[in-house]
Amino acid sequence: MGLDPIFTNTTADLELLAVQTALQAIAEAEPGLLERLNGLPDAEPHAMSQLADLLAFVHRELGDARARPIVARHGRLLAMALCAVPELAALRTRVRALHGSVRLELAVHAAASLLPRLGLEAKVTESRGAPLLSIERCGLCAQVSNAPEPMCSNVEALLSALLFELCEEPTIAAEVECLAEGGAACRFRIRG
Ligand SMILES: [Zn+2]
Repeated sequence: MGLDPIFTNTTADLELLAVQTALQAIAEAEPGLLERLNGLPDAEPHAMSQLADLLAFVHRELGDARARPIVARHGRLLAMALCAVPELAALRTRVRALHGSVRLELAVHAAASLLPRLGLEAKVTESRGAPLLSIERCGLCAQVSNAPEPMCSNVEALLSALLFELCEEPTIAAEVECLAEGGAACRFRIRG
């Protein structure tokens, strides 16, 4: 399946694409797993709650260690989709005109401004001299409690890839607090 920019024009299309890319990431890594999924629950009104159910299913069926690379691959596919939205080019130009820590800071704000296109509301603050991006309502983590470690490897991969596209510099987003572990939100520390 290709990521056709035609499908990335509206938030609803992007949310649908987020579900499709999750199915793609699962099919690539664990083709047999999708046979055990008896369709997505059709009672779900929103694509993003379908997505949360799907990712929770992958974690349940495979365990966290095997689920992690699949979920991270999903994040990279989502980054490709977000890089195709029309506003990306203007954001990239503004970010790349800056240098050093202000460049990274603007890039993190730009990334946060794009996340609602995927149904994720994000806030940017600062912690220990680095930008901190927080997602208070993560659909996947809201379904999990007592996870042994942070679960949002898709958001880590998504942010790292998106920030690289914006900054043109290697950037790492590491989840330092996760709702699934009992945190108040999923928070990602960003380092260039
Ligand atoms: Zn999380």
